[in-house]
Amino acid sequence: MKNKPNLLKLMGYAGGFKYFTIGSIVLAALSACLALVPFVYIWKIVDEVLAVMPDYSQAQNIEDYGITAVKYALTAMFIYFLALGCSHVGGFRTVANIRKHCMAKIFRLPLGHIESEGSGKIRKIITDSTASMDTYLEHILPDRTVAIATPLAMIVLLMYFDWKIGLLCLATVVIGFIIMGAFMVGPKLKKDMEAYNLALENMTKEAVEYVRGMPVVKTFGQSVFSFKRLKQAIDDYAKFTISYTQSFRVSMTSFTIVINSAFAILIAIALYHNASVTDHQLFTNLMFYILFTPIIGVTLHKVMYSSEADMVVSTAFSRIDSVLDVPENKETTNPKLPIDNSVEFQNVKFHYKDSLKNAVDGISMKIDAGEQVAFVGPSGGGKTTSASLVSRFWDVSEGKILIGGVDVRDIPQAKLSEIVSFVFQDSKLLKTSILENVRMAKPDATEAEVMEALERAQCADIIAKLPDGINTIIGSKGTYLSGGEQQRIAIARVMLRNTPILVLDEATAFADPENEEKVLQAFSEISKGKTVIKIAHRLSTVVDCDQIYVLQDGKIIENGKHQQLLSQNGLYSKMFNNYQKSVEWTIEN
Ligand code: ADP
Ligand code: MG
Repeated sequence: MKNKPNLLKLMGYAGGFKYFTIGSIVLAALSACLALVPFVYIWKIVDEVLAVMPDYSQAQNIEDYGITAVKYALTAMFIYFLALGCSHVGGFRTVANIRKHCMAKIFRLPLGHIESEGSGKIRKIITDSTASMDTYLEHILPDRTVAIATPLAMIVLLMYFDWKIGLLCLATVVIGFIIMGAFMVGPKLKKDMEAYNLALENMTKEAVEYVRGMPVVKTFGQSVFSFKRLKQAIDDYAKFTISYTQSFRVSMTSFTIVINSAFAILIAIALYHNASVTDHQLFTNLMFYILFTPIIGVTLHKVMYSSEADMVVSTAFSRIDSVLDVPENKETTNPKLPIDNSVEFQNVKFHYKDSLKNAVDGISMKIDAGEQVAFVGPSGGGKTTSASLVSRFWDVSEGKILIGGVDVRDIPQAKLSEIVSFVFQDSKLLKTSILENVRMAKPDATEAEVMEALERAQCADIIAKLPDGINTIIGSKGTYLSGGEQQRIAIARVMLRNTPILVLDEATAFADPENEEKVLQAFSEISKGKTVIKIAHRLSTVVDCDQIYVLQDGKIIENGKHQQLLSQNGLYSKMFNNYQKSVEWTIEN
């Protein structure tokens, strides 16, 4: 699929609507041919006028010719409208299909991919890329058809009137095309276009950084000159654009000269033949060719234009492929159900795409049903990653994760989501009411059930202060919740879902101690009677855990109960001492 021309790739998604797109091409070509016919009638009019000169009353057909010319012009326009109608129907449908295809793919993407890429970026890739495909199918394709059909039809006409002059004009067309072809297409232009886009992207990125950094600059009394990189990016862009533009000097100048040389040649011929109104045939022919010359220029420009559009569509395809090519979490062909709620890691390894290092590097452990364990350790040690493998945010690169004795990849995905749920470090809420946000976890839950979950998740104070209580739309009318408050609502959601296995990722920092206290309380409430993997940053919360695993560099370097680990004098006891000091420090100050 990769190296097919863009149009074929697009048609692959069009289904039956490809006939509309094909129809639009045929109609546009027809319209381009018909649009040339009025010129023939203009030629006939001039020819007749000159033939009967100076007794114009003898000119019988002028009116008919004029009317016919107008009829052809109108018909050409009408057919072009039809072509646009078809191209729009075909374009809409094709792009709708591509979008549907992408949406279906997003549904099957590993959640981890969406988390790490950012849903906004994925959305932007899909909407922007399909928008450029839309423009291509609806406008550029018919335009380009006209641009290609016009010179072809012109060749026929040029030969029809006077093949010798025709050949001369044709020579200019051919040379024009050759010059265009040599300079405007080919690998160099593609490379330059890429370099140009890169320079532009760089400048945009630095400009965003500049705006984001403004508060820092102002706070520390710096001047804008501290943004050397932005200046550098602008300079680079300017330098590149100027040299890029200048590289077209020769080709554009030659192109313009060649295209306009048709005029010069024609005038030379006229002078040579001493063409005058007496030799009206030659004169009208020359007039005709002079009328045609500007059209050559216009169509060549359009052809030029359309090779850029092709590149835009190619880029759009490669961006969409970056989403479509992400490996999916495959649904099992051999579904099995877990026998209990234990979780077991068997020599699990995982590395992120493009990363050489294993984020999880050979972890083995067994968590019995109903046990509560904690993952602790330095930042970047692999806690979040290993916990997220349990709910198949990603699939392991090596080894196995078993729930109730069954490989998670053999548990039907719908079932898995009924067994494991995850509270993220930074929980996201949707822009809808709190009721709906929580009810997402269990669509048939009654309002009373939702209320109970919210209360158990320590959200009573949040609901109390909101204008419409549980029906308040989050993000509307200035109702924004702090990170800790959002996390509590997310806990309520998981509470309602009531899965037997939970993965809880504590936020690393809270703005205020009261919030922190409530979140931790909500965590302990939700953990009752469940199998829990808790990723803990406050070591006070792990003291009672059945087992504590210390993760560093993707490996378990220590494990045991709190007292056991303290007596080992390893990383854990060092971390715990530091933690206690920090707590004391907070209390004393
Ligand atoms: P922890 O939760 O212990 O702080 P993580 O599991 O988040 O650690 O990270 C483990 C390693 O994986 C780190 O080196 C981190 O840089 C890397 N990592 C985490 N998320 C991603 C990601 N989405 N893409 C690439 N690398 C990642
Ligand atoms: Mg983490």
